[in-house]
Amino acid sequence: MSGRIVVLGGSGFLGSHLCDQLLARGDDVVCVDDFSTGRRANVAHLHDHAGFTLVEADISLGIPVEGSVSGVCNLASPASPPDYLALPLQTLAVGSEGTRHGLELAARHGTRFLMASTSEVYGDPDVHPQAESYWGNVNPVGPRSVYDEAKRFSEALTMAHHRTLGTDVAIARIFNTYGPRLRPDDGRVVSNFLLQAMRDEPLTVYGDGSQTRSLCYVEDEVRGLLALFDSNLTGPVNIGNPDEHTVIQLARTIIDLLGSSSTIEHLPLPTDDPTRRRPDITVARAELGWEPSTSLEDGLHRTAAYLAEDAGIADPHGVA
Ligand code: UDP
Repeated sequence: MSGRIVVLGGSGFLGSHLCDQLLARGDDVVCVDDFSTGRRANVAHLHDHAGFTLVEADISLGIPVEGSVSGVCNLASPASPPDYLALPLQTLAVGSEGTRHGLELAARHGTRFLMASTSEVYGDPDVHPQAESYWGNVNPVGPRSVYDEAKRFSEALTMAHHRTLGTDVAIARIFNTYGPRLRPDDGRVVSNFLLQAMRDEPLTVYGDGSQTRSLCYVEDEVRGLLALFDSNLTGPVNIGNPDEHTVIQLARTIIDLLGSSSTIEHLPLPTDDPTRRRPDITVARAELGWEPSTSLEDGLHRTAAYLAEDAGIADPHGVA
């Protein structure tokens, strides 16, 4: 049965792909965004869609959505480290007050609330891979805490609503995701490396590059979020790709894939940069029948094609 779903942060990298998938399956979408890190261009192709409404608002101040609501998905937050480090107070506000407003909207309409949480709740994990039962190792006063603790608070608030008011909720823990609509200036590893490789500039590896990340292609990620949203699970549920790489391996893979003449330049490791990260997706596989299916090579090609066009790169090394 189709409904009218409110996507908070719907013009962002992940949110805009969620809007696409919801509309494609017949839901109506109300996209709410303040365009602090999301881009108008991400949803420009949806403006003529009869089922699409755009509301410009900062959800930490309130959510001015009228009419029926049959679900709320909260993807509103800066998510790239350079973004949340540049917007520390806003990140804490959207994770706390923004999440509260989202929960209240869902509760008022007696509908389901999906919280997009993060693998950052595990901090620099001393358990590997990370299962949902692991409580994490987060520095509460370090620079990254504005994001990590905002999301941990979001999870706590979501569970408190569920326990005390019976609000129907689900928590997804999203691991590193990449794909088209990453902003060229986003600052995350995949967009940085692809743009640097296409420009034959040195790839900026932070630290010695031995830290690991596990990268999920955006369409797989959003398919997983929807599977959780459509289920009866509360979670938290890890939604990510267990395909783990060191950062230096990723740099070499991208140089080879694009036939780039880039070299590798080592820069200082950011404070509290997690040393390893890989999701245990046993729960998602068993309970949601979900797993990622896009290979790293395919995903990188599609992302490179998007970034080349978006950044106006004339000769992106044969990237179509
Ligand atoms: N990183 C890097 N060079 C870059 C950007 C990121 O070496 O130009 C590293 C970063 O230090 C981290 C990993 O790549 O270890 C992933 O960083 P990203 O910002 O994409 O996301 P995070 O997992 O840290 O939130």
